[in-house]
Amino acid sequence: MVRRIIFDLDDTLLQSGKYYNRQLDEFANFVTTNFAELDSEKDVLKRYNLIDQKVIEEVGLAREHFPLSMVKTWQFYCDRFDYPERKEDLDRCRQIGEAVYEIIPEPLPGAFEVLEQLSERFDLLLYTMGDVEIQTNKIRHHRLDRWFGEFHIFPYKDVKTLSCVLPPYPPDMVSIVGDSLRGEVEPAIELGLRPVHIKSDFPWNYHEVDVSADYPSISSLPELLQYLP
Ligand SMILES: [Mg+2]
Repeated sequence: MVRRIIFDLDDTLLQSGKYYNRQLDEFANFVTTNFAELDSEKDVLKRYNLIDQKVIEEVGLAREHFPLSMVKTWQFYCDRFDYPERKEDLDRCRQIGEAVYEIIPEPLPGAFEVLEQLSERFDLLLYTMGDVEIQTNKIRHHRLDRWFGEFHIFPYKDVKTLSCVLPPYPPDMVSIVGDSLRGEVEPAIELGLRPVHIKSDFPWNYHEVDVSADYPSISSLPELLQYLP
């Protein structure tokens, strides 16, 4: 029987991905407007994704990776087309990326109602990845302490970080809900938890990995209620 439910925050409870996508669209538009050789925003985003993967390997998922990947994508095109690297353009790239952190995303439809219902029967724990200050602002703004007894913010998520937030429950009494196969579903299967995957409208490559076992996948949080004993 499940006693504790661990929730991811971004794109599980809050609509964060759409704001990242909005900034990426703005960035791609900025690039295609400035480089006469480029007209496809899609190609720019593909290039951005390749560069972002390398940046994550170098600096991790720290707050600076998002604007830094934009700066590096810009520099890539300056180099390819022999354009001068101007400080004001690099600043603009950084600004487009940083702007995502000025927004506190709103809840996904039905998310808080589901938390209200579940908090009466289960011990709810919030388990999120990212910058401590940014994540704390989201938690405070939405007063998530109405439903959650514990909050954990890690710079990344893996089997080790997940095993830290289980006690005092054994793994088979814990369920975890999240949109990341890499961050939530795969480590949960490895540790013997019950994962429930929530599909995001704005999937991010980083979260996608091949998972060998079966797991339930839902499209909206209210569907979660049928997966809990
Ligand atoms: Mg997430």
